[in-house]
Amino acid sequence: MNALTTPNPLSTQAIQALDSAHFIHPFTDHADLATRGSRVIVKSEGIYIWDSEGEKILDAMSGLWCVNAGYGRKELAQAAFDQMMTLPFYNSFFQTTNVPAVKLAAKLASLAPKVGERSFEHVFYSSSGSESNDSNVRMVRRYWDLLGQPQRKVIISRHNAYHGSTMAGASLGGMSGMHAQGDLPIPNITHIDQPYFFENALPGETADEFGVRAARWLEDKILAVGPDKVAAFIAEPIQGAGGVIIPPASYWPEIQRIVDKYGILLISDEVICAFGRLGHWFAYEKFGYKPDLVTFAKAVTSGYIPLGGVMVGDRVAKVLIEKGGEFNHGYTYSGHPVACAVALANLEIMEREQLPQRVKDDIGPYLASCFEAIGTHPLVGVAETCGFTAGLVLVKNKASRERFDENLGVGMMCRRHCFQNGLIMRAVGDRMIIAPPLTMTHADIDEMMRLIRQALDLTLQELTQKGLI
Ligand SMILES: *Cc1c(COP(=O)(O)O)cnc(C)c1O
Repeated sequence: MNALTTPNPLSTQAIQALDSAHFIHPFTDHADLATRGSRVIVKSEGIYIWDSEGEKILDAMSGLWCVNAGYGRKELAQAAFDQMMTLPFYNSFFQTTNVPAVKLAAKLASLAPKVGERSFEHVFYSSSGSESNDSNVRMVRRYWDLLGQPQRKVIISRHNAYHGSTMAGASLGGMSGMHAQGDLPIPNITHIDQPYFFENALPGETADEFGVRAARWLEDKILAVGPDKVAAFIAEPIQGAGGVIIPPASYWPEIQRIVDKYGILLISDEVICAFGRLGHWFAYEKFGYKPDLVTFAKAVTSGYIPLGGVMVGDRVAKVLIEKGGEFNHGYTYSGHPVACAVALANLEIMEREQLPQRVKDDIGPYLASCFEAIGTHPLVGVAETCGFTAGLVLVKNKASRERFDENLGVGMMCRRHCFQNGLIMRAVGDRMIIAPPLTMTHADIDEMMRLIRQALDLTLQELTQKGLI
């Protein structure tokens, strides 16, 4: 019997009761969850998921920014099956290796565009974005130690950045709610403000003027910390979990000038932005900057199995390999053969279907035109896209761009309407965001936009009824 048609043996209520009794969820208020019960997702196909009540939902978030090749890819299941029957596991510690890990490293090196003289010939593997950023902290500090500058310890990041949920990942991230729990950040990590034009620009300031000003917050911070103490700057090309914050075009070139001037390492956290999301294999190519380390995870396997890692550029690889001796760091699952086999099959699909290219030339521009149109909706203050991701801000007054009181939870209200009407869209405050599968057709995009518009209309209706607008 096909797994998709197998009836679920447990009722929704029974699953919810077991869930509530035994499963501590990530990023979830459990008191709240216990009163409502979680939504149980049971199957998927293409761009859709289904819950245990049989409701079909268009997944405009690609799971959690990862199912770039869409659901239901038999090739990925086959690759996992075949590899499990051949070699389900072997470690890559102590001078052993396995074929899928080697092939994937070479493949990733071939896909990562060269930057000037530098290239990315090496990969370090983990199983997630968080672990990869922990590895980045280890590699960056080791690099400066080996170069005889052990005082270079400070890594600069940005408020509202997301770099994962381990101790180092959450510290590098700039989420105040995460820092407030668990005595974070760990020492020697500091943050500057994000380049969010809609929220932080001065009256009359152009996007380009703002972009340069925002980048110079990095220089201010380097000078405040002491240039000889700064090891690296880490940033997402566009901030994902922070709300699809798209920097002005002038931002990255100015960041590059500053990191070059002070000789600090640049880490591009592309856990969301790589593998076609912004129309390129790697997003630094889109913005034209030159990172030394590139974090990846999520869509490298389209989320079918956990895998992450760091593309290690020549500058760092040379020092670690030629001067480093043994690097006392690694994970049991670094270079896991099954995960690497699935990643290879996934990259093959992306190449064959030219997903990055589609985003760049076809569905990305189409999504941009759809968001321009939805920008005229009375609730929308600004609507913007970058590649195949988009964000729009719900505002109280369209003309003055006056925002709603945060405590009203208007974003969550809109998210509820999306959910009830068969669409997954995420709310970050009052900013509604999407990152759909890169396999969408124009008709799929039209259907998604219809559902978005419907959710906006219903939100406006509820706000009007409650006298909140
Ligand atoms: C999701 C994400 C991470 C963390 O990845 P996990 O696999 O959840 O550990 C790190 N950085 C960015 C930019 C992310 O979006």
